[in-house]
Amino acid sequence: MQVRDKLYIDGRWVPSTGTGTIDVICSSTEEVMAKVPDGTVEDADRAVRAARGAFQDWAATSVTERAALLKKIRDGLKERADEIGQTIAMEVGMPVKLATKIQAGLPLMSFGTMAKILPDFPFEERIGNSLVLREPVGVVAAITPWNYPLHQIACKVAPALAAGCTVVLKPSKVAPVNAFILAEIIAAAGLPDGAFNLVTGHGSLVGEALVGHPEVDLVSFTGSTRAGKRIYELASQTVKRVTLELGGKSASVILEDADLPAAVKGTVSACFLNSGQTCSAHTRMLVPESKYAEAAQLAVAEAAKYTVGDPFAETSKLGPLVSKTQLERVRSYIRKGIEEGAELLCGGPEASADLEKGWYVKPTVFGRVDSQATIAQEEIFGPVLSIITYKDEEDAVRIANDSIYGLGGGVWSQDEDRAVRVARRIRTGQVDINGGPFNPQAPFGGYKQSGNGRENGRPGLEEFLEYKSLQLKPQPKS
Ligand code: NAD
Repeated sequence: MQVRDKLYIDGRWVPSTGTGTIDVICSSTEEVMAKVPDGTVEDADRAVRAARGAFQDWAATSVTERAALLKKIRDGLKERADEIGQTIAMEVGMPVKLATKIQAGLPLMSFGTMAKILPDFPFEERIGNSLVLREPVGVVAAITPWNYPLHQIACKVAPALAAGCTVVLKPSKVAPVNAFILAEIIAAAGLPDGAFNLVTGHGSLVGEALVGHPEVDLVSFTGSTRAGKRIYELASQTVKRVTLELGGKSASVILEDADLPAAVKGTVSACFLNSGQTCSAHTRMLVPESKYAEAAQLAVAEAAKYTVGDPFAETSKLGPLVSKTQLERVRSYIRKGIEEGAELLCGGPEASADLEKGWYVKPTVFGRVDSQATIAQEEIFGPVLSIITYKDEEDAVRIANDSIYGLGGGVWSQDEDRAVRVARRIRTGQVDINGGPFNPQAPFGGYKQSGNGRENGRPGLEEFLEYKSLQLKPQPKS
């Protein structure tokens, strides 16, 4: 078991002002894998003051200097990728091979991308008689969830530092160990004291202290829509900038001319990745009525390939859910689906008989789900797919948009132009056409209650900048 008994504030590892600790539980063994400080409001305040103190100098560094430091952090992440993959496989439960590729791989792309964008980014522009500057917004509070913990951290910390902002990070208490590894890497890279700070603790305490702090200029939050609403409300008291990356209930629209086996395989994969604990998971599969029987059969056959088991076993495709709370929540949604009349095609709420420890749930597919059913409307965050039928293209678009969320989605058709036409009508932040892969350089974020703002790539950097217009006096014509 690891004991991480210090916080990273002002360039030093320091004890919390409190004495509490948080147990980090391994999702496959149910044992305590680490202990981290249960930070206090005073710790949050110390970290914000350190970030404020470091801001002016960090903001004044050259683009070349910042890009070089970001590259160093990227290299540090690369060196420790196996350790990061293993840590997150234990914290979150994702099979270790995938965790190393995705959970450890994406963060180094975020730092690498920012280092690349920076030298050519137009920080100044002439518009008529104005010189328009883009300046760092100030002190950033980054508050992150557990499902892709280091990716979500990197999506904030990399662009914030690139912009010239200083950061206080509060990671999820469920999966915080990876954040300590990042802090070590950042410390070794030689970032100035106070430019990056790490405080662990509870959202209701440390999180709210950061959101309400008058010296924090921007809150960049990823997490549940419930917590996002609370943060929006609190931040309004000091009129902070707030970016929110929240929940989703994304639809995969399979048009009648699609390659059905490929479309179903792609949709099941986009639903079950990380045991369904993905904000942009394709949890609603929309198929034409005429293709329902075949699609249902294919989905069940696909689900059977998702061998459930220990994240460290070679054969496992689906690890446990992150926590007992999450397991109970997913099981109760599966029961609700049955109660509300959806057809349970495979899986179900019972535990897998052969796995005594760990919060495992069977890959579950529901057929003939009503678009208004609870399981079609609410984010489950487990490996649960709902198949919904539609009459025609118009109906498919209507159902895809019949959600308070608008984060991800997919459209499948042999005719790419047609798929793009349909994708344009879906009110959501990203749509995968025929299984097009995730692009970490393209903007990511949500419409509607999936959030505000975008992460990744150039738009992700712009979130951390303010405009300033200098009106120059026009020169008299000679
Ligand atoms: P959560 O909202 O419970 O917690 C997220 C973070 O917010 C944690 O660090 C937590 O401590 C903190 N927090 C909670 N309440 C707070 C408050 N009142 N004030 C300040 N901070 C607070 O979410 P979670 O369970 O960790 O993560 C799962 C959720 O995250 C899902 O709903 C998922 O869809 C969403 N998510 C969204 C995206 C996206 O990019 N849109 C990505 C990943 C996860």
